[in-house]
Amino acid sequence: MMRTIEINLEAIAANYETLKKLTEAKVMAIVKADAFGHGMIEVSKKLESIGVDMLATADLEEAQNIRAAGIASPLLAWLHGEGADFESAIKNDIQIGFSSVAGLEQVAAAARKISSVAKLHLKVDTGLGRNGATLAEWPSVIGKAIELRNQGLVELVGVFSHLSGTSEKDDMVQLAEFETAVEAARKLGAEFEYRHLAASAATLNYKNTHLDMVRVGIALYGLDPNPETVAASFGLIPAMRVSAEVVSVKQVPAGHGVSYGYLHKTSEPTTLALVPFGYAEGLPRIATGKARVLLNGKRYLLSSRIAMDQFVLDVGNDKVSIGDEVVIFGDAKKGEPTAEELADASETINYEIVTRIGGRAKRVFK
Ligand SMILES: *Cc1c(COP(=O)(O)O)cnc(C)c1O
Repeated sequence: MMRTIEINLEAIAANYETLKKLTEAKVMAIVKADAFGHGMIEVSKKLESIGVDMLATADLEEAQNIRAAGIASPLLAWLHGEGADFESAIKNDIQIGFSSVAGLEQVAAAARKISSVAKLHLKVDTGLGRNGATLAEWPSVIGKAIELRNQGLVELVGVFSHLSGTSEKDDMVQLAEFETAVEAARKLGAEFEYRHLAASAATLNYKNTHLDMVRVGIALYGLDPNPETVAASFGLIPAMRVSAEVVSVKQVPAGHGVSYGYLHKTSEPTTLALVPFGYAEGLPRIATGKARVLLNGKRYLLSSRIAMDQFVLDVGNDKVSIGDEVVIFGDAKKGEPTAEELADASETINYEIVTRIGGRAKRVFK
């Protein structure tokens, strides 16, 4: 294949097991955004086959797609727009994250209509400023949740919040706020099966944030949640390997331009290798002049402008043939460039790299 995104589902399963061993809490596997670009259905099926504690997406539509694929594991979705279809969510046993009185009323109305019970996770904002009830709104949200629970319309399954990862100190302030909010809810009469706060970084770094459940995304895919937290040092394995085949090789004289804008010109007679992987495949154009790829055991700088469909490597006198594999990123343990390195070269984070990779490149699962 001209372009390949290899997904190692065994690595994802092994990472899940590794994360399970790191904590006494339950582990929620985050498969939003097409499992961070790794293929939501395939990843969810794999995780279900090893008995995942819970799956989660952001959108209900993603969760619906998981159910439509026949996956029955516990499943949560927490990001809803106007007109979200809570009725089908409840029918399909999708747990719903919510944080406002108005939202709870909508969910309860849907439950009433189909004579069913909605499973809720209530979110409190402990500082991040995204969704979640403010501490001021919290008592009324809890009051409403208790009222609906007593009417048999909702079940209070979880209570959660999300950390900013600004610093250990900031995260610990959020943890304390969260514990205060959970205690306030308990005093008002709301008990939850699962308190969950930690995403990958806190799961790996701060045991005291694990509570009843952790929510892991990036670590499940074997990547670093931040530059200070190296996934490989916990035994986690990168699950995505991106490569392309050289499709053209030619000799050119010194002074030959290479790709748009002639950012690179050959300094001596040399060989140019054309690789069909461009910014349409999610290779950031801004990585031009900075990222390196692996070809026949050697790293080459992307010295010429990354284009929509392709980039060109100046390989000097090295012998390169059509069909040779160019690794864009993979596993550092195998000497390959990493998603983290490409992210650094692109002024972004590995999360953005793996979620954006695609275009015409097809996933192959192993
Ligand atoms: C995306 C997300 C996660 C997963 O974060 P990672 O850093 O990838 O582990 C966890 N919780 C919430 C609320 C999220 O939005």
